[in-house]
Amino acid sequence: MRCKDIERLIIASTWKDLSREELLLIKEHTQQCAQCTLFQSEYKNLRLSLKNNPAPALPEKLDRSTYKICRKALNLQKKSAPAIPPLIWGVLAVLIALSVILFVPVFRDLILNEPLSSQALFVLTFLIQNTVMLFFTPILIKNFREKKQGLNIFS
Ligand SMILES: [Zn+2]
Repeated sequence: MRCKDIERLIIASTWKDLSREELLLIKEHTQQCAQCTLFQSEYKNLRLSLKNNPAPALPEKLDRSTYKICRKALNLQKKSAPAIPPLIWGVLAVLIALSVILFVPVFRDLILNEPLSSQALFVLTFLIQNTVMLFFTPILIKNFREKKQGLNIFS
């Protein structure tokens, strides 16, 4: 084997495991060839010194501007998330107000443990309906946001 081939094998040994035959070739050759022995030891020293050197630090200016750009992008992302639509707040307020107004008169019926009047039944139905609506509100908000961002595949 020529010296060039041995040098290639020595370099290749840094990123892959050589076969036993290849390792034997290097060993046999370097026992006879002073030039390749020198190459092997210098290559090893070079690799070691590269490994021991710390990674170069990012210039402070570049570091700061990268930080600013990332911060800005994060803030934009936060702002782009729309708030709960006013319509939902309005509906929620009306429903809560109606619940309170209707519930107060029949409250005594409930605590006195008397048979429920039709008005009390109506109010209870209304409250249950409102509760169910509250569970669906997050879905409505989510749909609203997706539509606003143009991501809704149904629109
Ligand atoms: Zn050689």
